[in-house]
Amino acid sequence: MATGFFWDEKTFWHAGGNYAMTLPLGGLVQPLAAGGLPESPETKRRFKNLIDVTGLSAELDMRSAAPASREELLRIHPAAYLDQFKATSDTGGGELGHHAPFASGGYEIATLSAGLATQAVRDVLRGDLTNAYSLSRPPGHHCEPDKPMGFCLLANIAIAVEAALAEGRAKRIVILDWDVHHGNGSQACFYDRDDVLTISLHQEGNYPLDSGHLAERGAGAGEGFNLNLPLPAGLGHEGYLHAIDHVVIPQITAFAPDLIIVACGYDCAAPDPLASMQAMAATFRAMTERMKATAEDVCDGKLVVVHEGGYSEVYVPFCGHAVLEAMSESSVHAPDPLERNLKARQPNARMLAFQKQLIDDMATELGI
Ligand code: ZN
Repeated sequence: MATGFFWDEKTFWHAGGNYAMTLPLGGLVQPLAAGGLPESPETKRRFKNLIDVTGLSAELDMRSAAPASREELLRIHPAAYLDQFKATSDTGGGELGHHAPFASGGYEIATLSAGLATQAVRDVLRGDLTNAYSLSRPPGHHCEPDKPMGFCLLANIAIAVEAALAEGRAKRIVILDWDVHHGNGSQACFYDRDDVLTISLHQEGNYPLDSGHLAERGAGAGEGFNLNLPLPAGLGHEGYLHAIDHVVIPQITAFAPDLIIVACGYDCAAPDPLASMQAMAATFRAMTERMKATAEDVCDGKLVVVHEGGYSEVYVPFCGHAVLEAMSESSVHAPDPLERNLKARQPNARMLAFQKQLIDDMATELGI
């Protein structure tokens, strides 16, 4: 068995609107030469190109998938939202939420993006693949059931989780979100549920602004099954691994899931234009190695990684390559061209005392 890699060229054809970074064009905001949203297809296409050029993709099981079905979408999204999204997509595209524009045909591409994640989960749970990566685009972790946000139009991972539960392939699932922004969509989908543990590591107060607080622990039956770690800007390699080792892994192990899904955003990397963290490709490799080992300990190695954010066109491919190297235990490497530079310039590759204290204080407050 191999590591699966789910992708489809059509997802690279999703187009956003007229933005520069996240600023609408107009006034003194000059259009970018490349145009469009920072959620550009180039980060993903260059990632796919890199694994082809190094030869890593030849070791993976490369697959596409069918779009998520209406029945699958309806487990998360209200019919009214899906109908409005489809109708707008059929008539030239538009914007139905906050920073989540789409062009004509955006609905079909979004259902394909969700379908890639759903099939990746299905194929891992049925034992057809060792583990799997879904290069989903548009991303999903900000999308709430009736509210698209932050470049996310459908809740890809939540849709995949519901399919796995409905098909009887799993009873308990962990979603670990290390995208630098809060995984508010996954949180909203499962906030009152005890069969899905949602964990989000994110830069405090980045996006959404008033979201992802430590005190948001779940409601009703879901009390205690939602975990937010709002992290200080500037956190780097050692700090992320400290949070993973001392907070995340004990929580996952205690929950004893049948599957671990990682909402894998690369925007906590140092060069990212939409955040202020200092992770490196080596950080993503190390975090993935830890999740692989944890999955082997608790759920027979069942691990699915779903692509979320990450806006450095140059650097995301190297971080993604490192994740895939760890998942597949490949010896095909893509040396990080920035690592020496980042380590030399940015002392936050080391963990500073106040950063450790903040994480340890949060763990104490959470009773970990
Ligand atoms: Zn993000």
